[in-house]
Amino acid sequence: MRPDWKESFLKLMDGTSVVVDEPMNKHTTFRIGGDADVFVRLNTIEELKDVLHFCHEEDVPFFLLGKGSNLLVGDKGIRGVVATFAEGLSDISFREDLMIAEAGATLAAAANAALQKGFTGLEFAAGIPGSIGGAIRMNAGAYGGEMSHIVEWVRVLAPDGEIKTLSKEEMEFGYRRSVLVRIPYIVLAAGLRLSPGDEKSIRITMMELGKKRKEKQPLEYPSAGSTFKRPEGNFAGKLITEAGLSGLRVGDAVVSPKHNGFIVNEGIATAEDVLTLIETVRKRVYEHSGILLEPEVIFVGE
Ligand SMILES: Cc1cc2nc3c(=O)[nH]c(=O)nc-3n(C[C@H](O)[C@H](O)[C@H](O)COP(=O)(O)OP(=O)(O)OC[C@H]3O[C@@H](n4cnc5c(N)ncnc54)[C@H](O)[C@@H]3O)c2cc1C
Repeated sequence: MRPDWKESFLKLMDGTSVVVDEPMNKHTTFRIGGDADVFVRLNTIEELKDVLHFCHEEDVPFFLLGKGSNLLVGDKGIRGVVATFAEGLSDISFREDLMIAEAGATLAAAANAALQKGFTGLEFAAGIPGSIGGAIRMNAGAYGGEMSHIVEWVRVLAPDGEIKTLSKEEMEFGYRRSVLVRIPYIVLAAGLRLSPGDEKSIRITMMELGKKRKEKQPLEYPSAGSTFKRPEGNFAGKLITEAGLSGLRVGDAVVSPKHNGFIVNEGIATAEDVLTLIETVRKRVYEHSGILLEPEVIFVGE
């Protein structure tokens, strides 16, 4: 990584939206995270390929950000290039009841587009604050639905630079995981198979699920959703409650009393605060129940 790599990068990306030393707390739902060396919004696959080529040639780290809703970014930020997909890579279209959603589209936009067309299948996703790319990577799900139930294919940019279309089977979906944990594919778009439904009942389901979320989840505070994965045959929130940890605090990072499965940022929590709280919760839940909770939130940066 040459010391003047940022200047070369700015020259390369002339005309696109590049910001140097961009605070990541502006781009994460936790509202936590130091500066990314360089932050770039991409509108075409060509731009993405140029950035990847640059990072490869110059030995600069690359991180692809979705909507930052499952991330804890370190207080010292992220070295190298952080890229995210802008409007040019966020299109949603239909071929009959197959939705073709580009990776930068939000789940909310996708769920609303399905509603407008009277297609059922995406109601579960309306309240998940992520992008299609992030949701495929995580196999995001809620209320009995998950991405793997509707994915027919996923178009990816493979590490060798080839654009490939992977079948649902090749995606190796599991609980909050996909083949992307193993192979660093970049999701470009997904074909989501929906089915014709009744617009009114789709709308009602979406509203009911939204209401449930508001009642149960601390949406009034920044967070990254469920902090921990659901342990087999149990619930992280329940184990945390039983260990007596509701309301436990490190700085402004708090085990939400409303939903013990969420760590929230009640003000100016740092990543360090959240990490310390996560480790304390894991230790005390383990001591109480013998179950070691695994974080669902992904740590990035320094
Ligand atoms: C209030 C709240 C409620 C939530 N509720 C739920 C829920 O009900 N169910 C659920 O599953 N999750 C939930 N989440 C977590 C989160 O919204 C999901 O995990 C979501 O899918 C993450 O998408 P994202 O675009 O924000 O990804 P990010 O958080 O930006 O990134 C997550 C990972 O995906 C990778 N990634 C992003 N885009 C791409 C791409 N195009 N190609 C390859 N990799 C990519 C990133 O590099 C990173 O490794 C919730 C979060 C919050 C804050």
